[in-house]
Amino acid sequence: MTGMDFDIVVCGAGMAGSTLCRQLRRELPDASIACIDPIARPLPDACHKVGESTVELATHYLAQVLDLESYLREDHILKNGLRFFPGGGATHSLAERTEIGPPQLPIVPSFQLDRGRLENDLRAMNEADGVQLFEGAKVTAVDLAPGDAPHTIALSGPEGAKRTLRARWFVDATGRRQLLARKLGLRRSTDHLARAAWFRVGERVDVAELVPPSDTAWHERDRTHIRWQSTVHFMGEGYWAWLIPLSSGFTSVGIVVDGDIHPFEAIHTEAQARAFLAEHEPEVAARLAEPPARDFRCYREYSYGAERVFSPDRWALVGEAGTFVDPFYSPGSDYIALANTYATRLIREDLTTGDATNADRFSEWYLRLFDESVVTFRHMMGAFGNPAVMTAKIYWDNLQYWSFLCQLFFQRAQELPLDHQQEVLDEGIEFTRSHRRAQALFRAWHDLGGVTLGEARNVYLPPIPSILANAYLDLQKRVEPAELLPLLRTKRALTEEVLGELVLRVLRELPEEAGRTLARDLELATWELPIESRRLTLDDLSPRDRRRALSSVAKDVERCLGKPTPRDDVASWEAHYRACLDRDVTDVAL
Ligand SMILES: Cc1cc2nc3c(=O)[nH]c(=O)nc-3n(C[C@H](O)[C@H](O)[C@H](O)COP(=O)(O)OP(=O)(O)OC[C@H]3O[C@@H](n4cnc5c(N)ncnc54)[C@H](O)[C@@H]3O)c2cc1C
Repeated sequence: MTGMDFDIVVCGAGMAGSTLCRQLRRELPDASIACIDPIARPLPDACHKVGESTVELATHYLAQVLDLESYLREDHILKNGLRFFPGGGATHSLAERTEIGPPQLPIVPSFQLDRGRLENDLRAMNEADGVQLFEGAKVTAVDLAPGDAPHTIALSGPEGAKRTLRARWFVDATGRRQLLARKLGLRRSTDHLARAAWFRVGERVDVAELVPPSDTAWHERDRTHIRWQSTVHFMGEGYWAWLIPLSSGFTSVGIVVDGDIHPFEAIHTEAQARAFLAEHEPEVAARLAEPPARDFRCYREYSYGAERVFSPDRWALVGEAGTFVDPFYSPGSDYIALANTYATRLIREDLTTGDATNADRFSEWYLRLFDESVVTFRHMMGAFGNPAVMTAKIYWDNLQYWSFLCQLFFQRAQELPLDHQQEVLDEGIEFTRSHRRAQALFRAWHDLGGVTLGEARNVYLPPIPSILANAYLDLQKRVEPAELLPLLRTKRALTEEVLGELVLRVLRELPEEAGRTLARDLELATWELPIESRRLTLDDLSPRDRRRALSSVAKDVERCLGKPTPRDDVASWEAHYRACLDRDVTDVAL
């Protein structure tokens, strides 16, 4: 048995562990870093791990913080954003369903990652940068030491060899093995019951193949033929299925279901998963009938949180070793970026000053961001078949994401002095309040209004120019630390105005009685929405006068989500709104 000392031992060389090693190496060039993983290279292309689609935050982390942009452009697929087809495939062909997605390749990039390829390459880069890799070796025990004493880490392998490492920092990046979370009893429920199954096929599956060439109008919408580069979501009641193209030429296919709506048995074998697709998304199932699945995996319940992820006793949990929320909108690697960035700062501060006490606050802040993210997904899949609700939800969720979480990361708020960062996160609580309300609104809209498939719409999100596009394009701008809080406040005011418009829109879409029920159930009168009194009168005007009088936010929402369904069964919209918002009692000072 040989003993070796390191500043940092990272347990697990998956995406979280390997990206953390790269970040640490760049910020702490003199630190000694070891990284351990039982699976040795070469890792297989494509059929390695799930977690292939990145969104803006994680891409910024990989491309800019870790300086991997040219590598990503060369070795992975530039992504055409997230593309959604709500409405379910059992009754409507794909061309008859609403399509929601970006009109062009991204200005702020995101990528489809081949995970086997990425992890092979990251390990090689880390090794070349001086990280000591122990591949084929597994951590069998960790003895966490108090005070300044080193932690002791027992390794087994390769070939049965036993080794002991000592380290000032121990980072658990073992994914769902959750070495430390299990040992210390840190795992916590998110109260979000959802299941998933996935497999890969060894060929490109292009969403355009699912619509006959004779449907020229549908194909014309994608003249440059870039739809296939999107993460494609086929959505119906209580489920969604994905197609993700990989640079190795494979396609990743997955199914996610709400555990309260669909049992695990519906997807827990390849045959069942294919049968599920055949029932709910027959066009997808038919296209996948020929190519054999190259692998198959499933999770009965994939979401969980944690009591704590960083400790002043010099340990940290990153990636799925700590938390995982949901794959819809692909936020998994965003939370890797956030956790790694806090862990890096913590380790840097400790190695330079011997003080790791910020761990308590970083842990609390990370978990606050994580816990709030659950709201976006919990009990929402019931509405996934509903095109009107999903269009509004996707619009809103993107606006929130680009306005707060992305800004926080892109503007490096995690590096701010603690008091300043606390203010930024407190501003986040205000965003959260609107976000929770919006999710309750979407759920109630779906529950009370039911699903109207109606005419298929083509919704470009974000359309340029628009408020949503501004939120997205603003990610390219850097602001001084002192400007961040005012920027977030401006963005929050805008999102609250948007929420006001969404509330009026939902009240306009629902039957009058259902609108009043929604208002009562959600206690709309207490929301203090920034809706001008005059706005309440506009929907009684002629379409031309109404359009002229609407605010720029109201016009923008309408342009993105489409005009509300015309209805003449409400005698006075103003009276209806006032009754629902209880506006005579609680008119809001603007
Ligand atoms: C259905 C589903 C779909 C998803 N889709 C997306 C997506 O589209 N985009 C996205 O960003 N995220 C997605 N995710 C999340 C993504 O998969 C995870 O965030 C990511 O894979 C976690 O990486 P990790 O490094 O924490 O864990 P892993 O990648 O699992 O790595 C853990 C590593 O630890 C090693 N290890 C285990 N035990 C030990 C031990 N005892 N000693 C040493 N090493 C050990 C393992 O060999 C492994 O290499 C999805 C998740 C699910 C469930």
